[in-house]
Amino acid sequence: MNGGLLTALADLVLPRTCAGCGTPGAVLCPRCAALLARPRVAAPRRFPWDFPPTVAAGAYSGPVRPAVIAFKERGRAELARPLGTALALAVAAVTAAVPAPRAPVLLVPVPSSPAALRARGRDHVRELTARAVAELRAAGVPAAQARLLRRRGRVRDSAGLTAAQRRANLAGTFLRSGAVPPGALLVVVDDVVTSGATVTEAAATLAADRARGDAPVLAAVVAATPRTVRNATSPGDLRVVPRRSENVPERPLDRLSGRFRRD
Ligand SMILES: [Zn+2]
Repeated sequence: MNGGLLTALADLVLPRTCAGCGTPGAVLCPRCAALLARPRVAAPRRFPWDFPPTVAAGAYSGPVRPAVIAFKERGRAELARPLGTALALAVAAVTAAVPAPRAPVLLVPVPSSPAALRARGRDHVRELTARAVAELRAAGVPAAQARLLRRRGRVRDSAGLTAAQRRANLAGTFLRSGAVPPGALLVVVDDVVTSGATVTEAAATLAADRARGDAPVLAAVVAATPRTVRNATSPGDLRVVPRRSENVPERPLDRLSGRFRRD
């Protein structure tokens, strides 16, 4: 039996409600889906050093929160479609900031911890990534999923930790696995950005052996904790936070630091 038929049968027996607002009907009603069609630059309260240029499809607030939690923690896998579409939009927005026409776009999912995978029984970030890749390809973007990161060792659950504690907790969390095709745009993808620690660590792991002149590692997420960016000239500005200069050799990220504008 194919997935479409199963979905159709489930529609007959299971009442459907919007995961965001509870309105009967679609898994995500048009009003809630529209909240994830507003790409914006993710702006953590404190930018971690090396926070990659990151775009979110919407704010992690209001009905978006329960929708993401329903997908992630409550097993509502059918939300992969609308949330994956939102992720594709964020990927398209962040890659538009980098002048690399027709470069292959590799979506690198942030790997969940083994404990989280066991608890959920699935890898929701990979599900989102697969859906986003399908959407991007349908739109003519040469996108693919590249599982270039894996987890190293054991990491504490980050719930209840401060941003700095999260960063320390994550330091050395990821290992790169597999070769990065030269010239590809790398986009770390995850469900949500809050402190920014996870995407920063993931992007740093991927950036460690990029060649000079390569585009910076980017990041895209479904939703980001909303913040007001002070001193930004427009919401379309993408900032790369440079590393402290005293102890870091020049790298592509430094040369490219400053601002990327969406055209
Ligand atoms: Zn809704």
